[in-house]
Amino acid sequence: MEKTEKGNRTCLTCGRILTNPDENIRLCPRCQKIGISVAAPVGALGLSAVVKKLGPRLLKGTVYLIKGLKK
Ligand SMILES: [Zn+2]
Repeated sequence: MEKTEKGNRTCLTCGRILTNPDENIRLCPRCQKIGISVAAPVGALGLSAVVKKLGPRLLKGTVYLIKGLKK
């Protein structure tokens, strides 16, 4: 086994060398910010996929929930 590249972790997205190797998240601060803005629509997509899977009953419930939140 070769020794791992300790302290030379790079961002998974842009390849920038991370200055904080203790961090478990393999993203530079900049990509972390982008990741959050990307994760939000992906989460919404996932939600719609779940709604499709579980059927209109849940959709109805979600609509009620949204209506309740908008009030
Ligand atoms: Zn990055």
